[in-house]
Amino acid sequence: MAKRDYYEVLGVDKNATPDELKKAYRKLALQYHPDRNPGDKEAEEKFKEAAEAYDVLSNPDKKARYDQFGMAGMEGSYGQGGMDMNDIFSQFGNIFGDLFGGGGFRGSFGGFGGGGQQRRVRQGSNLRIKVPLTLEEIDQGCEKKIKVSKYIPCKTCSGTGSRDGKTETCPQCHGTGVVVETRRTMLGMMQTQHACPTCGGDGAVVKDKCHDCHGDGIVKSSEVITIKIPAGVQDGMQLSIQGQGNAAPRGGIPGDLIVLVEEQEHDTFERQEANLYYNAFITFSQAALGGSVEIPTLSGKVKIKIDAGTPSGRVVRLRGKGLPVFNGYGQRGDMLVCLNVWIPKKLNKDEKSTLEELCSHDNFQPNPTKQERGFFDKMKEIFN
Ligand SMILES: [Zn+2]
Ligand SMILES: [Zn+2]
Repeated sequence: MAKRDYYEVLGVDKNATPDELKKAYRKLALQYHPDRNPGDKEAEEKFKEAAEAYDVLSNPDKKARYDQFGMAGMEGSYGQGGMDMNDIFSQFGNIFGDLFGGGGFRGSFGGFGGGGQQRRVRQGSNLRIKVPLTLEEIDQGCEKKIKVSKYIPCKTCSGTGSRDGKTETCPQCHGTGVVVETRRTMLGMMQTQHACPTCGGDGAVVKDKCHDCHGDGIVKSSEVITIKIPAGVQDGMQLSIQGQGNAAPRGGIPGDLIVLVEEQEHDTFERQEANLYYNAFITFSQAALGGSVEIPTLSGKVKIKIDAGTPSGRVVRLRGKGLPVFNGYGQRGDMLVCLNVWIPKKLNKDEKSTLEELCSHDNFQPNPTKQERGFFDKMKEIFN
């Protein structure tokens, strides 16, 4: 089933503030909360759908990617069934905590996959790298091997952070990973849940710390990562590769690798979206008498015909000779070739007299048509 637009799911517009997003999400989460709709599969789907929409739109990185690429930009971020129930509660627990006055709700969700697991799932941080790309690489798409410095699980302690592999139940939260704060409000006593500060939500603490990672379970290392760059990417685009970021301390989910596309300037072409621009130079006689000229493209040279009487500045469009459109199913942009008449800068005596003689003919005196005089028409021709 095709996914619904995230803004539509939450019923907000693109300029919604973080507060409005949160409000819209809370409303839906409350309506479709499994506590209120026990055994209702449809409500569960709606609950998950809203969580996924909120997960994307409340995260500036993901939101930017979604705004630019739509669902295509989210590919691989969520499984077929959408977000996992445990993830929803671990990520947005605070929101529900407020909704349900804290406490309580977690216990009722023991059944969702985690088998009563109440601890927060740790997530490694995202890793960002810049990848410089040539137009040729962007044209074809490519694979880049890049050395990155990142956190990986400590081999000495297998990522546990513990020298003897043992952990102890956290004395502060007694293994729940959360602490409950009770405060007085206008509506009475309210309870909210937070990740336990002592164990960071793990529910367990390491007594005998591993010497290599000082108990973190992760160490800095460098790794060569192979990154697949799809054809047609543009400068400034971010590609997110799930699970290739930093490892999480003491187990958990690794972060993502965020690849920032850096397009290198090309010697020959200029790019605008999927179109390429090329400045070609032709001689007086080619312009006046017609002929042909060879034009370089990213897929080899092509010959284009020059009509007799071609004015300098004429733009010729080579359809499909531009770059692939990103996620465009094989669609390509065009190449726009501007034909400029080459004016030599220094002439010798013979050349001067030949040229002067030639240009004294009536036929060589400027006599532009109305269309040729129109400056703006010409600009339009160039820019469209
Ligand atoms: Zn270690
Ligand atoms: Zn704790």
